[in-house]
Amino acid sequence: MSVERILTNVPFYVEQSSYCVQFHEKNLCTQCTDEGCPRLDEAAELLADYREQRATRYRNARTN
Ligand SMILES: [Zn+2]
Repeated sequence: MSVERILTNVPFYVEQSSYCVQFHEKNLCTQCTDEGCPRLDEAAELLADYREQRATRYRNARTN
């Protein structure tokens, strides 16, 4: 698998999470509370995980 393919092949769940984060910049969803939002937390966590994994794969692809 080429590096370009790794970087551009964004899974659907990542797109969804990214949309969820964008949505919360200006809106509230049905699960939002004054304390925060479980959906937003989950999406942010998932995106962080994905970016970390992608960075690891990118490093591996460069050294192999
Ligand atoms: Zn929310």
